[in-house]
Amino acid sequence: MSGRLITRKIGAFVNYLFAPGLCLACGCELDNAESLCDCCGGQLRRVPNPCLHCGQPNPVSGRVCPACLLNPPCWQRLVAPLQYRGLTRDYLHQLKYSEALHLAKTLCRQCFEPFRQSRPRPQLLLPVPLHGTRLSERGYNQAEVIALLWAREFGIRLERSALTRRRATESQSGLSADQRAQNVRAAFDYRPAGDINHVAIVDDIVTTGSTAAEITRTLHRAGIEYVEVWALARVYKR
Ligand SMILES: [Zn+2]
Ligand SMILES: [Zn+2]
Repeated sequence: MSGRLITRKIGAFVNYLFAPGLCLACGCELDNAESLCDCCGGQLRRVPNPCLHCGQPNPVSGRVCPACLLNPPCWQRLVAPLQYRGLTRDYLHQLKYSEALHLAKTLCRQCFEPFRQSRPRPQLLLPVPLHGTRLSERGYNQAEVIALLWAREFGIRLERSALTRRRATESQSGLSADQRAQNVRAAFDYRPAGDINHVAIVDDIVTTGSTAAEITRTLHRAGIEYVEVWALARVYKR
């Protein structure tokens, strides 16, 4: 474990015990525990001028990028404000694999605004489910941890069990875009959770979007017309 990582872990632990806390990245004093100072928060890079549909930077003016105008994704809107690199990548990795659940709050606090601007609000938040086997190995679903924070902040209903994973799929990391799409084909089920027409799928990271696309198709088949994808970070193409 690197010295920097040890410092961050100690910072996180101290923040659990005492308030006011310390900045998780640099260790300076803060009013809030489990947070970052303005300087370290500013180092989490945002996607500049994100396209409403794909979340990648839009090189032209307007809300939708030329690629999405030609070939729109199957969901209606994607919000994933942070670039998946640097400190964001490091924290999301710890959240997923090292039980650092407090980092979900740290990252969410840095970027509530783009989700707040999404109007009208979704009626339901649906975290991308883990298969039962993986859930019992890991002990938690990081997408659900993030969804819980957004549900509280925005007053949206969180539905934990409506969306399920029908079969255990291979991990998506290391697969090509085509392999990812194939890997998640027909992998999800949706059990209607009331009279719902507008939902947001919640995940930690959007990479190629193949998981979100497969879930969106499942939801559209179930009669949900308006599907948003909400994630903390986007794998940044340009
Ligand atoms: Zn700091
Ligand atoms: Zn786009």
